[in-house]
Amino acid sequence: MIIGIIGAGAAGMAAALAASEATDHKIYLLERQARVGRKLAATGNGRCNLSNIHASSGGYHGDDPSFSKYAIGQFGPEETLAWFRDLGLFTVTEPSGKVYPYSDQANSVVDVLRFALNKPNIELIPDFEVLRLRREGTGFLLESKDRKLLCDKVIVACGGLAGTKLGGTMAGYKLLRSLGHKCTRLRPALVQVKTGWSGVSALKGVRANCHAAITVNGILHRQSTGEIQFTEFGLSGPVIYEISRDACQGSGEWECVLDFLPEIDEATLKQELFRRRNTGLLAEDLLTGILHNRLGRVLVQNGGITLRRTVSELQNRELEDVAALVKHFVVSLTEPLGMDSAQVTAGGIVTDEFDPATMESRLVPGLYACGEVLDVDGDCGGYNLQWAWSSGRVAGRSAGKESK
Ligand SMILES: Cc1cc2nc3c(=O)[nH]c(=O)nc-3n(C[C@H](O)[C@H](O)[C@H](O)COP(=O)(O)OP(=O)(O)OC[C@H]3O[C@@H](n4cnc5c(N)ncnc54)[C@H](O)[C@@H]3O)c2cc1C
Repeated sequence: MIIGIIGAGAAGMAAALAASEATDHKIYLLERQARVGRKLAATGNGRCNLSNIHASSGGYHGDDPSFSKYAIGQFGPEETLAWFRDLGLFTVTEPSGKVYPYSDQANSVVDVLRFALNKPNIELIPDFEVLRLRREGTGFLLESKDRKLLCDKVIVACGGLAGTKLGGTMAGYKLLRSLGHKCTRLRPALVQVKTGWSGVSALKGVRANCHAAITVNGILHRQSTGEIQFTEFGLSGPVIYEISRDACQGSGEWECVLDFLPEIDEATLKQELFRRRNTGLLAEDLLTGILHNRLGRVLVQNGGITLRRTVSELQNRELEDVAALVKHFVVSLTEPLGMDSAQVTAGGIVTDEFDPATMESRLVPGLYACGEVLDVDGDCGGYNLQWAWSSGRVAGRSAGKESK
């Protein structure tokens, strides 16, 4: 039997290795780029957060969030780490549950997969962009601009649209739609969200550990404590990433309410600011030693205080206003950045049309899909690569096992 796998990213490589373990069938791994795992090599800021030991179906989204349950259950974080260890990759798990290669280099992950693909029954063909996929007898015909390939089974592992500069593409959605599958609305996820607050650019690059509450029309939508990063146009960081898949949809007013000192109550902070009246400090240093200097100055200015005034001349009310801003700073959110900047695509090929236990199409026997092309997207912190490994392994194993 010949199995064609379209896309040599995380899911496609996992599928090829699983199919090759289960069978002696011929496996073609087709990649439109010159090398495998280009996006994988850029993940986690070059460190590759390849899994999360807490990953379970609760961390995944889509029209049917439970779809991920079967693949994650069959080949979850524990199995993934053992598998990578077998491939020769040492990993380290951070207290948060995020898993990275011991080398701290995403390239190590790509390398061990690349070496493992070097098997007699796997043929990796780079620069092979599948432009058309159609039924041919009981199998499939895959066509690039200058080649044709007949396969008995096909696994579509083309990834999603996110990270367009790293190879994110519509191709997988188009190929699966050409065989009758439907696609949900695609949105960027795990991405910065822009703000209407013009002061943000002065804080570009500043990171703050804070409690962030996202509200829509003043009603709490989501909250968490962690790092927020200010960017040129908006906010970034895990809590922002988590809401970005549906941020600013519809007509509601989205805001992010930041508490920059979640472990210190407002009364204690006020006391400290009042105490600082006995020092010779200028207002620009009112929050020095408490917050990032640039953030401190921006908050003081937002309290209507000129930076060159002395702290000793500030009124109680002015100090109370600054303390209130530190504990309750409201930033409006306008829209998420686009697919170029997104780490993952929310939405994708409708999962109802696939068997979650095998990843085989319910519409076209012998056709499989895995990874980001499906309507599954995970939380920040290694969940998306875990989905790629889990669904890829299940698709490859199922395609390899079943005889025609
Ligand atoms: C900047 C960035 C950082 C990220 N960091 C993390 C992280 O640290 N942890 C995490 O869990 N997730 C992270 N992600 C998300 C994660 O990388 C993806 O969810 C994951 O790579 C999806 O795997 P995939 O195999 O489905 O798709 P991809 O890895 O995108 O692979 C798809 C492959 O298919 C190929 N292809 C597409 N169309 C065709 C065609 N027609 N013919 C042949 N080949 C084709 C593509 O060239 C590509 O190589 C990050 C994403 C980005 C963009």
